[in-house]
Amino acid sequence: MLTKGIDIRASRTHNVGLFATEELPTGTVIWLPCTKCSRWSKEEVADLPAARFQALDTYGHLLTDGSLLLPCLGAYLMNHSCEANVLDLGLDFGLAVRDIAPGEEITCDYATFVEDGGWSMECHCRSPRCRGRVTTEQGGDPDIKRTWLERIEAALPGVAAVEQPLQDILKELSEPYRRILGGKTDLQQVSTGASVCAPSFVTR
Ligand SMILES: [Zn+2]
Ligand SMILES: [Zn+2]
Repeated sequence: MLTKGIDIRASRTHNVGLFATEELPTGTVIWLPCTKCSRWSKEEVADLPAARFQALDTYGHLLTDGSLLLPCLGAYLMNHSCEANVLDLGLDFGLAVRDIAPGEEITCDYATFVEDGGWSMECHCRSPRCRGRVTTEQGGDPDIKRTWLERIEAALPGVAAVEQPLQDILKELSEPYRRILGGKTDLQQVSTGASVCAPSFVTR
């Protein structure tokens, strides 16, 4: 489920993308997997025709347990940036790691999709820090990993401080969110180890 204040518009980096229609401050939960998202079990994934799997995997996430998740409400249209403003390592939701202004595109880092092994793409994100080619192997790069974790750590105190339009569903579905509400702000304490993109990133 996607938070409010987000619209689908034409994107400079891809056909379409997600754009903020209002200020989304650091710490805002941008999306989380919910019961309206589509899911295929590992067994169902194995039975999908190759072309169908490829189409679903383009927009969905392969998870640690081999299942496939296709986020609902357009959340699957989030494009990549090498300086993403939404990250989720060690969390089971996508977190705004900096203030996102109205009109800005909302992006995540596809190199965090560590379960989609061997995947890569040419990047046109226009970031000064663009890696040129984005690969899932970059998720193993210590410098890139450290940058992601530092950005998430810095944003975590904002989670309990900002207005969270998704708070009810987060309380119900997200153990990391409940831990944050319980006063935890350190990623090692907040993380359950389960994440939609990089499940084994944070070891406790
Ligand atoms: Zn959903
Ligand atoms: Zn890039």
